[in-house]
Amino acid sequence: MERMYRNALLLALSGLVLMMVTGVYFEHQTEMESVERVLLAQTETYAVYAGGSIPSGRSVQYDADRLYQGKMLCVSAAYPLPDGMPAQQARNVRHMVGLYVPAAENVTLSEEAIYALCAMVEENPLIGTWIMDGMRSPQQQSQLQRETFETYLNTMPVAQAMARAVRDVPASGQSEHQLSDCFDVRLNGAHDWSQTDALLRTQDGRWLQENCWRFGFVRRYPPEKTEITGVENETLHFRYVGTVHAAVMHATGWCLEEYLQALHGNGVITLETQDGVQAYVQCVQMNASGAAFVLPPEYDAAPSADNMGYAVCALTPLSGFGI
Ligand SMILES: [Zn+2]
Repeated sequence: MERMYRNALLLALSGLVLMMVTGVYFEHQTEMESVERVLLAQTETYAVYAGGSIPSGRSVQYDADRLYQGKMLCVSAAYPLPDGMPAQQARNVRHMVGLYVPAAENVTLSEEAIYALCAMVEENPLIGTWIMDGMRSPQQQSQLQRETFETYLNTMPVAQAMARAVRDVPASGQSEHQLSDCFDVRLNGAHDWSQTDALLRTQDGRWLQENCWRFGFVRRYPPEKTEITGVENETLHFRYVGTVHAAVMHATGWCLEEYLQALHGNGVITLETQDGVQAYVQCVQMNASGAAFVLPPEYDAAPSADNMGYAVCALTPLSGFGI
């Protein structure tokens, strides 16, 4: 009897210890989620943190086709687009907004990118700038590489011409220009040739360098990042990613590859304005059926595959996120 009593007491005690341990564990977890944010960068108007707790909401599943229409695909020789990927949706800039945006005749871009360009030229008409290249089909990309090869062939042997063409123009499926948010600019007007960085040679170029992020654009291949991007000859290439992603990349100085790497490692990145308004970026691994994200009420979600096995989703407060 005494032994039974002692055993029962031991059992009760061990249960209590287990509950205490479990309780501490959960409390610890909750606390970690709410406080474990690491400051990555700070500007005058907002801060960027690794981690953070996304407000609760329902889980929404997006399929792969939907995610491949997104704005965060990394496309390169190392990460080519999947075969047979449906083309992203795009519209001819001139047909949509005439010459309100200074674009050449056959430039096509996503509606969001065109609207963002409109907002940008409303603040600065960019009269010394010309948007030259937008979205290309896989066939147009192949043709461009072939034409480049033929041009080189006029002045050098076949093997050398081939090597140069492959270096200068990515093969079909390996160029960002197959996405609907990328374009190159041609800068006209007075040039300051003392600048080694081609973008900084004109007034418009310098303005773009400073301000494009506020409208959701990033300079995709900055000269100081060529070792990471592997792209040297696209210094005047811009890409629309949306204001949340552009703001993170602006504050941290990350190029797309560095940003995606940070998202893979952290899972969540939080932006916070001086007034305490928050936007979030979630990142999860994709599986065969796509990816699921938490979607809190009062937030707009922009999900996208990253073409590296993950998917990301920017959450912007519906009430606005002024930075
Ligand atoms: Zn380009």
